[in-house]
Amino acid sequence: MSSSMSYMQIKGIAKRYGTYEAVRGIDIDIAEREFVVIVGPSGCGKSTLLRMIAGLETISRGDLVIDGQRMNDVRPADRGIAMVFQSYALYPHKTVEQNMGFALKVAKTPKAARKIARAAEILQLGPLMKRLPKELSGGQRQRVAIGRAIVRNPKVFLFDEPLSNLDASLRLQMRIELAQLHRELQATMVYVTHDQIEAMTLADKIVVLRDGLVEQIGAPLEIYRRPANTFVAGFIGSPKMNLLKARVVAIEAGRARVDAAGLLCDVTVDHLPAVGAEVTLGIRPEHLAAGPGAS
Ligand code: ADP
Ligand code: MG
Repeated sequence: MSSSMSYMQIKGIAKRYGTYEAVRGIDIDIAEREFVVIVGPSGCGKSTLLRMIAGLETISRGDLVIDGQRMNDVRPADRGIAMVFQSYALYPHKTVEQNMGFALKVAKTPKAARKIARAAEILQLGPLMKRLPKELSGGQRQRVAIGRAIVRNPKVFLFDEPLSNLDASLRLQMRIELAQLHRELQATMVYVTHDQIEAMTLADKIVVLRDGLVEQIGAPLEIYRRPANTFVAGFIGSPKMNLLKARVVAIEAGRARVDAAGLLCDVTVDHLPAVGAEVTLGIRPEHLAAGPGAS
């Protein structure tokens, strides 16, 4: 993608806490209206990166550019960004309506009531507007948190593991709703999760992060089919890809024949290894089938 097409550019961004670098120089180009999911294990720097984009953390090194403007020193409220947190962070003594409208009230935004009504309609919160957060289910609370972001009409939505506190069936439902929301709002969304299934189902583009660095960026199926390394291969996919130690026994017609403890496979590879080389053979469980010799 050419840089002129990208709406948000994350250029060599790093975050240092004392002597420890939690984010170690990350480059991501995000197109307008793209749904980008940043996925990686706990502690890899996802929240730190998101908080730097939102302006809740200073950027130690690198540049954040949104719509052509360098944002490093722009106040959070002036970045055109709204963030949704895992913990909802609702005001306990305010109703749903007041929670959703609070930022608009503080900023004296015109047409606040209409914006709140529209968000309530999108999220089907209409009947709940007079309730307090404690009178809502987890899924409804998360919807209010999302509603609070929608009313601000941000150019970019940031989501930090918004579904992690929900049970499995509700997570599935909310995932579908988030995909619909993205289509409806036509907004740019950056979504952080440790859950590779969320990443595979929601993303236009996945960024796999580990230890503060990018391991791979690509469309979900691209990452699934052509993982850049064994970390990505093992992290994306459920059940996990089998990774077997193997040895190259022959090269023929651009394919390598490998031997994994007696299991012989012919595989197409980008870079042909030498005969005798030790390699890792990756086989997804769904690509294994019982043959006539199986018992
Ligand atoms: P993730 O969201 O991927 O689980 P975080 O971005 O929260 O990871 O954290 C990345 C790393 O930075 C972790 O090792 C975490 O302990 C560390 N970290 C996060 N915030 C701070 C902080 N304020 N001070 C020091 N270390 C921090
Ligand atoms: Mg986090």
